[in-house]
Amino acid sequence: MNDFHLNAIGVVHSCFKQKFGIPRQPGLVDVPAVIELYPDYAREEAVRGLEAFSHIWVLFLFHQTVRQGWKPTVRPPRLGGNERVGVFASRSMFRPNPIGLSVVELASIECEPGSVHLHIRGGDLLDGTPVLDIKPYLPYADALPDARGGYAPACPEVACEVMFTHAALAVIETYRERLPELHQTITALLRYDPRPAYQAGGVGQKPEFAMRLYDFDLKWRMEEGKALVYDLVPVEG
Ligand code: SAM
Repeated sequence: MNDFHLNAIGVVHSCFKQKFGIPRQPGLVDVPAVIELYPDYAREEAVRGLEAFSHIWVLFLFHQTVRQGWKPTVRPPRLGGNERVGVFASRSMFRPNPIGLSVVELASIECEPGSVHLHIRGGDLLDGTPVLDIKPYLPYADALPDARGGYAPACPEVACEVMFTHAALAVIETYRERLPELHQTITALLRYDPRPAYQAGGVGQKPEFAMRLYDFDLKWRMEEGKALVYDLVPVEG
C-alpha cells in the first residue's frame, strides 16, 4: 500500500503566528501551547492513561510549507546554511512526506464532554499546525544518551545576549497579567538568533527584524552582536 490518506486528529494553538522566529527544535524555549483534539477524537477515553507521562511525541503536518515540495538535499542551519546533506539526514520541513515530529512536555490534560485539550510546553509548532498523532514518550526506549548526533551533537549554543529598551520593557509590563512569562520567552527565543544563517553576521545584513508572537509584532535589531528588543506592536484585528 503506497497511497493512503491521513486525517488530522487535532490542531495546535501556539503563540507562533509565523514561521520566522520559531525555535528550530522542541525543548529550546519553554513556551506553552495547546493541542485541541477534533470532535471525532475528543473523547476522554482516547487519552486515558496519558496523564501519567511527562512528555509526548507529536506528529504533525508542516502545513505551511507543504506546497513547496522537497529536494533530495537541504542546507541545515546547524551547518551554517551553506553545506548540503540529504533530506533524510535532516529535520527539514521540505520532505517527500512533510511530517514533523516533536517531543514536548505534557503539562496537563483538560477533558470536558466533547472537548479534549492537551496543554504542552516547549513546542516548535506554528499556530494552526494539524496534528496527525500523539504518542507517549518512553524514556527507556526513546532516550539514548550514547547516541551520535551527527552534525548537531548538542543543543545549539546561545548566540547572543538579549537586551531591551526602556520602551520595550514598559510595553512588556502592560502584558504582565495576561503573559507573565513574556520577558523570559522573548529572551529565550532571541538568544538563539533566529535569523537565517546567511543573514547572521553577513555583509549587508538587514539590521532590523520582526516576528509575529501572540497578537503583536516583536521588533528587534542587532547592535554589536546583541539583540536589542525595541518594540512590541499590537497587530490589528
Ligand atoms: N521538531 C520537528 C521535526 O524535527 O520534525 C520540526 C523541525 S523543523 C526544523 C522546525 C521548524 O519548522 C520551526 O522552526 C518552524 O519554522 C517550522 N514549522 C513549525 N511548524 C510548522 C508548520 N506547521 N508548517 C511549516 N513549518 C513549520
